[in-house]
Amino acid sequence: MATPEYNNFIQDFITEDTESGRYGGRVHTRFPPEPNGYLHIGHAKAICLDFGIAEANGGLCNLRFDDTNPAAEDVEYVDAIQADIKWLGFSWDDRMFYASAYFDELYNWAVKLIRDGKAYVDDLSPDQVREYRGTLTEPGKESPYRNRSVEENLDLFERMKAGEFPNGTRTLRAKIDMASGNINMRDPVIYRILHAHHHQTGDQWCIYPTYDYAHPLSDAIEGITHSLCTLEFEDHRPLYNWLLEACEVPQAPRQIEFARLNLTHTITSKRNLRRLVEENVVGGWDDPRMPTIAGIRRRGYTPASIRNFCNDVGVAKTNSVVSLMQLEHFVREDLNKTASRMMAVLRPLKVVLTNYPEDLVEEFAVENNPEDPDAGSRYVPFSRVIYIEQEDFMEVPAPKYFRLAPGREVRLKGTYFIKCQDVVKDEAGNIVELHCTYDPETRGGEAADGRKVKSTIHWVSAAHAQDATVRLYETLFLTPNPAEGGDVMANLNPKSLEVLEGCKVEPSVHGADPGSRYQFLRHGYFCVDPDSTLERMVFNRTITLKDTWAKVAGK
Ligand code: ATP
Ligand code: MG
Repeated sequence: MATPEYNNFIQDFITEDTESGRYGGRVHTRFPPEPNGYLHIGHAKAICLDFGIAEANGGLCNLRFDDTNPAAEDVEYVDAIQADIKWLGFSWDDRMFYASAYFDELYNWAVKLIRDGKAYVDDLSPDQVREYRGTLTEPGKESPYRNRSVEENLDLFERMKAGEFPNGTRTLRAKIDMASGNINMRDPVIYRILHAHHHQTGDQWCIYPTYDYAHPLSDAIEGITHSLCTLEFEDHRPLYNWLLEACEVPQAPRQIEFARLNLTHTITSKRNLRRLVEENVVGGWDDPRMPTIAGIRRRGYTPASIRNFCNDVGVAKTNSVVSLMQLEHFVREDLNKTASRMMAVLRPLKVVLTNYPEDLVEEFAVENNPEDPDAGSRYVPFSRVIYIEQEDFMEVPAPKYFRLAPGREVRLKGTYFIKCQDVVKDEAGNIVELHCTYDPETRGGEAADGRKVKSTIHWVSAAHAQDATVRLYETLFLTPNPAEGGDVMANLNPKSLEVLEGCKVEPSVHGADPGSRYQFLRHGYFCVDPDSTLERMVFNRTITLKDTWAKVAGK
């Protein structure tokens, strides 16, 4: 995998630090997911950046589970997160860590802060803490418990740890400045009481550090040099730095913020993604309509396409929304190079070639991928009964409709010209099959006498076809900004999934593993779903063929 070159403000900071020798020339980043949900496309951007920029600078990147809130976390997520990062093509080698493994050190630092008069146990309730905090325009009020003695604080904190107090009755707060213009500096809570089982530490702890407290110190423990995070943490940076200084860590990491990735028609909030799963709007975290890594993998997106997209989007200092079309462009670009072409009939119409010998089966060599000279070719069987798309026939052809119609001749891709002689209907008047004749003098798709046809249609031999179910997708949300108006559920697209049964695919796909990707001619790119069986394969449409973004962006 090629390492992209970075030319952005983050790289500038890193270069500044390596040139000044601030970290002895080291570059060490981390990707710190909280295991409370599956990773999504926004995380992919952070992963590409954290791992990519470390590698581009000859550095390292850790995977660290930021598991300080046992209430919402689960090992299911711990496992899924690892699988997703690996699939994207990145490796943390042996550097996978848990913030929970640092709970002892974090506790000892908290004791140090108390001893140094920089932290106190507060008895205010969560509501009171909020009330005392003040607002953007008004300073906060000091808690009546703020000036407890060091001894009392040590005793109470010890007893918090020992489990003497119920949830929410006390907190440990950093003693900074209740009048600070930055609300994050108004004596932030650094420990809370939570009698909860933790997926890594079990029942060992009933006090847990907050994210703001655990994060800078975990970074310091791991020797992180550049701690990249999203913009909402910009206002937390003074606290990040305050804690590193107050705890006197040997070498303070540098926090650098960048804009979150937002995509049109997509949500990237774990809370809302979890709602979609829990309220059965989708089949699970890996539903192919989900913007999760697991979902887009099942949908058929490739790791390379996601990495290319993330690099193209780049990093910025201001939030913006990227068009979903841009992501889809990179998916098409990669699949066009790598996906084998196949013929598949999604809505079959039976065609009998009345003058074709009953028992004859011919095989036609077809190129697998015109974009890839090494892809080779395959043989496609042809016989007397075939399927074509229902939409490739019109009994009364509309103006400018050049495909099959009564009395009209078209080319069957790669084989012969056929001409429609008869339309067979059931009692209700529905078309059930067509009777056509083929012209043996057009073998290979060109007429010996030089006559032309106006269209070429694809087909599958009925006796050889692979039965398939095909799932077609649209965006999960109707509006470009699903969060607009408050409730994302109000913007759901009722047509986000269409299931076609009875599809017919050329036999070469038979037995292909889940995850195999193809271009079905004229229909788009498809991926074999894990629900497939040998008798009835299941395909997800990854994406249609038409690349609107390439046109818009002049690519
Ligand atoms: P949520 O708030 O939806 O739960 P999160 O940001 O808290 O998501 P984390 O597990 O804490 O999720 O994220 C791990 C890392 O991924 C963080 O460094 C975070 O900044 C980054 N990240 C999360 N969402 C995005 C996004 N949309 N774009 C870029 N980076 C993101
Ligand atoms: Mg977070």
